[in-house]
Amino acid sequence: MVTHSQRLDWCAVVVGISLAEGPVNKMVDRLINTDINTQRITAVEHCFRATGQPLALQGRVLVGEGLLTKACRKKPKHRMFFLFNDILVYGTVIILKKKYTNQQIIPLEDVTVEDLMDDGCLKNQWLIKTSRKSFRVCAATLLEKEDWMKHIDSCVKQLLEKTGRRPSTEHAAPWIPDKMTEICMRCTERKFNTLIRRHHCRKCGFVVCHSCSKHKFLMPKMSSKPLRVCTLCYNRLVEEKNEGSTSERKADEITGLNMMIASNEEDSDKSSDEERQEQWPGPDQFFSTDLPWSSFHA
Ligand SMILES: [Zn+2]
Ligand SMILES: [Zn+2]
Repeated sequence: MVTHSQRLDWCAVVVGISLAEGPVNKMVDRLINTDINTQRITAVEHCFRATGQPLALQGRVLVGEGLLTKACRKKPKHRMFFLFNDILVYGTVIILKKKYTNQQIIPLEDVTVEDLMDDGCLKNQWLIKTSRKSFRVCAATLLEKEDWMKHIDSCVKQLLEKTGRRPSTEHAAPWIPDKMTEICMRCTERKFNTLIRRHHCRKCGFVVCHSCSKHKFLMPKMSSKPLRVCTLCYNRLVEEKNEGSTSERKADEITGLNMMIASNEEDSDKSSDEERQEQWPGPDQFFSTDLPWSSFHA
């Protein structure tokens, strides 16, 4: 039986993270309620224009910003990231420093960063993990990566101290990119093509065929709606639910709570079908200007 361990190398090569406490907290205190901070936040809002949320908030500080490469389902994509002391915001670049769209906002309370080692062309990468979704990002240089990780980590720690909350321990599995496998990672039989489409298990992040991901399961931390899971995860989740339940539940009751996906239902995780193999861009391909790609404010 074929295993997929080799395909999971990128998420298995996790190394320990140990960051010294930087001057980030002091910087936040210094910038709070300053004009320069207000101007910076207004500039970010302006770049997103009507497509973004208002970002100015009492006590919020823009800690830094920069261009990162984000692992997406089909291929890595450049995204502009903004680190505030309470949220991480990112968006698609239309015109650098002028126009962004598709704004995403992640509350920092829910964020954990995890270092990843370089792996082939994947350099300066780390994981941004949250309960709803987790993804890999790459910085242009090792120094930028270290800066990002250090600043995010410091902001999260400061926020947790303030709110008295415990660090988040449950994280969504990062999705295995489509191109990491040509066959279903569960049955290891079906080869993906225009008819056999790729789906992602929301629990383990594996790329699976329709037959191996017919169930949905309600995972409240990730979504208010039941999400597609692979057969293995589904069985485990049902088992956990059964074990966790104080009263005896019949298997069919559990199954009744979680829906089968109709075979012809339009799924939210659109299949990639066949797409040109994309390589991660090297530093020369995208980061070849005089602009510093990440800046953290002093
Ligand atoms: Zn399968
Ligand atoms: Zn799964």
